[in-house]
Amino acid sequence: MPEDGGATTGDRGGAGAAGPVLVLNAGSSSLKYRLLAGGRAEEPEDLEHGQLERIGEPGGEAADHADAVGQVIDRLHNRPVAAVGHRVVHGGDRFREPVLVDDDVLTAIEELARWAPLHNRAAAAGIHAARGALPGIPHLALFDTAFHATLPPAAFTYAIDRELAGEYGIRRYGFHGISVRYVVDQAARLLERPVAELNMIVLHLGNGASATAVAGGVSVDTSMGLTPLEGLAMGTRTGDIDPAVAFYLARVRNLSLDQIENQYQRQGGLAGLCGDNDVRAVQSRAASGDRDAELALDVYCHRIRKYVGAYHAVLGRLDAVVFTAGVGEHSGPVRARSLAGLEPMGIMVDPERNGADGGARLISPAGSAVSVCVVPTDEERSIAQQTAAVLGLAGSW
Ligand code: ADP
Repeated sequence: MPEDGGATTGDRGGAGAAGPVLVLNAGSSSLKYRLLAGGRAEEPEDLEHGQLERIGEPGGEAADHADAVGQVIDRLHNRPVAAVGHRVVHGGDRFREPVLVDDDVLTAIEELARWAPLHNRAAAAGIHAARGALPGIPHLALFDTAFHATLPPAAFTYAIDRELAGEYGIRRYGFHGISVRYVVDQAARLLERPVAELNMIVLHLGNGASATAVAGGVSVDTSMGLTPLEGLAMGTRTGDIDPAVAFYLARVRNLSLDQIENQYQRQGGLAGLCGDNDVRAVQSRAASGDRDAELALDVYCHRIRKYVGAYHAVLGRLDAVVFTAGVGEHSGPVRARSLAGLEPMGIMVDPERNGADGGARLISPAGSAVSVCVVPTDEERSIAQQTAAVLGLAGSW
């Protein structure tokens, strides 16, 4: 047993009250891991991290998620682990905060795969394998939907038959909550104001993309819905589209539901508009005069601008617009283009600040009514922070 308590990845056993948290983030074909220890100073210590790719694919790094978890444990070289925090995409109505995993919770996570098939199945497989490999320590599940459990009924209710919606749990759940929660706290630090005083719009722009209206630290509206398909235009997902397009396609092209879903999930977004789903590629093509790429960027940024306006209205008063994730953190052109024309609403981007690199930073001109910020997200750290908070682990996270 190591001095600071907890199981070691070698001797397996013993409940831990302090020590490092292992974060497992299982995607459909990948597994990200990070071992973090509560720091004595401001930052937690990053002991190990890495990623296994193309799980279950020919030539991939692991045969399945159980195999991947086994490899992660090997890579930890018998380091102590006090607890494991697992990222789960869909928590449905049931999971509104982090939960200690038992057999019943695991079954519920598997059942919620009906709304996030690839993600929840991968998470459940990862949790199952990790509980087998690291028994005797707490395993927590943290949900991307949980941060949005505060949405008011007017924002989460779809205008369809209430009985049908009730029977099948059809409502807006929202996603990216682990990221948004972290970014909201970091933005408040950057602005040197209490979270409770701030109204923000968080734009999480990665492969998936969402906008969330946050009032005093609480999610009050968000663009993703029952599934992560609704809202902003994304790398390969359509985001908002007239629901009647599905009926029309079924009739005129005789497409099946699976084929239409594939169109919406994988053949849409930037990929559908110009053939490239990576914003870097789309930007460089647009810069060299490619019209399809130019239109793709316009559609992408127009949709963001529309949500900023809508959420400004939802919030009433707006203090900050916060960009995060791959595109939000790295694409000055997307940030500038998305907010162009919003000056009358007090939203301005300073070209020089927007062009500079760095960590959490302001990109609006000094004295602007609304602060525009870039804040790097860190989902693994957010999971470790929340796990440590639930378990009362020592150290600063
Ligand atoms: P995920 O949603 O999978 O976590 P990320 O948040 O890492 O993804 O975002 C990935 C996306 O970020 C890439 O597809 C790419 O479009 C975009 N991206 C990364 N770096 C840049 C950059 N320098 N400029 C523009 N876009 C970028």
